[in-house]
Amino acid sequence: MIIAVDFDGTIVTHEYPNIGKEIPFAIATLKKLQEDFQLQLILWTVREGKELDEAVEYCRKKGLEFYAVNSNYPEETPEHREPRKLKADLFIDDRNLGGLPDWGVIYNMIASGQHFNIESFFSPYQNDEFTNKGGGKKKGFLKFIFG
Ligand SMILES: [Mg+2]
Repeated sequence: MIIAVDFDGTIVTHEYPNIGKEIPFAIATLKKLQEDFQLQLILWTVREGKELDEAVEYCRKKGLEFYAVNSNYPEETPEHREPRKLKADLFIDDRNLGGLPDWGVIYNMIASGQHFNIESFFSPYQNDEFTNKGGGKKKGFLKFIFG
């Protein structure tokens, strides 16, 4: 599995071009995903040059290394990129539809293989009505959205 992960607003709080504060458990979760699964982690960010180097170094100092940075594989260059779109199975980005789940939720979604299941976006403590953890009749998704 190839996972592309954003930096600003995803691994650290959004303070670009500065480095924000680490979002709780972001780096620990990414390291654990690397340890537990055969996956390639790609840093996928708008950062370039000095700002990009700072982000990579920030992660490296905390023990997180990426398979590739802003590319499909380490040897890829901007001039020789095919296809133009990054070939990732999954993107973790604070601009996801639905926003960025907690990193614990992200780990569980990937570990359980439920990362394409919209219901898994809702953790039980965030929304009992949708997940039906409190018992009673479960609402359908459209009813949940539109009342
Ligand atoms: Mg971002």
